[in-house]
Amino acid sequence: MLTELGAHAYGIRRPTELAHLDGLVIPGGESTTMDKLVRAFDLYDPLRALIAEGLPVYGSCAGMIMLADRIAEPRPGQQTLGGLDVTVRRNAFGRQVDSFEEDLDFAGVDGGPVRAVFIRAPWVEEAGDGVQVLARAAGRIVAVRQGPLLATSFHPEVTGDTRVHELFVDIIKDGS
Ligand code: GLN
Repeated sequence: MLTELGAHAYGIRRPTELAHLDGLVIPGGESTTMDKLVRAFDLYDPLRALIAEGLPVYGSCAGMIMLADRIAEPRPGQQTLGGLDVTVRRNAFGRQVDSFEEDLDFAGVDGGPVRAVFIRAPWVEEAGDGVQVLARAAGRIVAVRQGPLLATSFHPEVTGDTRVHELFVDIIKDGS
């Protein structure tokens, strides 16, 4: 999606690969595993420092959980990178079989509703004053922005619609 938008995208697995980043995407997956891996690969402190310095970061699904300051009823010992002043609830819409798709109005994205794919998705249970709510599904907050941090409960990368990633690329460009 990012390459299609003209960005130079590459994977980050080690601290040495964090140099010269303009922005970071934390994708979906499994946040408990990501939490263990960022610490095992010594990425926890450098990523927290970059977020504190204002690096634009987009987190989708498990990535949203990694960006959240707080998790409602977390797995024992589960930590997040934090940065976003929100409380998220993991697997909030139900189990894998309860995955669903929905067209959402998304503030800041023009051209009609965004098709959102939710896969064992979290929702934002509580958001601080500095957090802008961009979209809701079933009355729940599923997309937020706080300055250079963007997060969605759903997976825009699976639909072929580049508009959410475009919003993130614009956030990076605005800050540079
Ligand atoms: N349920 C996963 C978690 O808690 C997130 C699922 C996803 O990223 N699609 O980390």
